[in-house]
Amino acid sequence: MQDPQPRTPPTLKATYFDGRSAQARPVELHIADGVLHIYGADVAVTAKLREVQWPERTRHGKRMAQLTAGGLVQCDDGDAWDAWCRASGLGESSVVVLQQSWRWVAAAVVAFVALLVGFQQWGLPLAARAIVAMTPHSVDASLGASSLKAIDDTFMAPSALPPEQQASIRQAFAQALSAQAPERVPQWTLVFRKSKIGPNALALPGGTILMTDELVQLVDGDTRVLTAVLAHELGHVQQRHGLRMVVQASALGAVAGVVLGDFSTLLAALPALMGQAHYSRAAEREADAHAMEVLTAAHIQPKVMVTLFDKLKAQRETDREKALKADKADPQDGDKAARAKRIGTAISWLGIAFASHPADAERVAFFQGAAQ
Ligand SMILES: [Zn+2]
Repeated sequence: MQDPQPRTPPTLKATYFDGRSAQARPVELHIADGVLHIYGADVAVTAKLREVQWPERTRHGKRMAQLTAGGLVQCDDGDAWDAWCRASGLGESSVVVLQQSWRWVAAAVVAFVALLVGFQQWGLPLAARAIVAMTPHSVDASLGASSLKAIDDTFMAPSALPPEQQASIRQAFAQALSAQAPERVPQWTLVFRKSKIGPNALALPGGTILMTDELVQLVDGDTRVLTAVLAHELGHVQQRHGLRMVVQASALGAVAGVVLGDFSTLLAALPALMGQAHYSRAAEREADAHAMEVLTAAHIQPKVMVTLFDKLKAQRETDREKALKADKADPQDGDKAARAKRIGTAISWLGIAFASHPADAERVAFFQGAAQ
């Protein structure tokens, strides 16, 4: 390593202007202890290195350094200036300058990331809301139909529930909704399916609500509980959460689709997206609030929802144990990783479905608190 502070600091002949008069004064420059010394016949000026605006290192021409306190030094011989800078260890001070600018760069990066996160957190949902508001409802319906087909092909079989039971669940829900102002009730259709994903329910854009036979069996066909689930799902329909979610997830594509009026390519990709996406916490809160509204108006105790949360939780634990036991009993059965993946997939698929977002303390308190 070189000694950064040579005993005799190198000097450079230059010209000094004091910033008040046009008089050019011949001076010598040297740097010592982080200070630029400018001295001549009637000049004795010092300036800290960071109070000097050092010139860019250009290939040719003279160099000028501005003092922030006023005044200027100039050297016509660029090469001599550069050599003097190097010899004075100014390379190091430029590292200091760089470090300072790195701090700025880091600050700028942090600010930029914050802006992006902010956009994703608040800007994008707002934009998605606006886009959904100007999208015709036929888009929801079309998205719902294609999603239902994808779900049916993968996870569902025809319902084994007696038609009379299906009808009575529909009837109970319609009865509960009759207490609502008609304009607050979106169009809905309730379909039942025997499923490979256990007790569950989900709402598709456009108003189709799918309920699995297993959910009906889990609550012994209690129509009050099923009405609570349906009211939650209808909240998603009413707020058009499905479309909002896919718009948000494919923001640019959706914008292009709305602007260009071409939804076909977008729609083709959406059922897959619906299968993997989750509603946001905010969306779940809105759906819960809708459920609360419907239940209260229909004089059904909102805490039936808590009963359901408990049953779903117990069911999940049983499923997990069963899966683990089966895995232990038959370790040779296929690739273990693939098996774990299968179990995980079955549990995590359909993030928008009711049982896929288990109740946390907040939701339980919401439905329980209202009961008191
Ligand atoms: Zn939900």
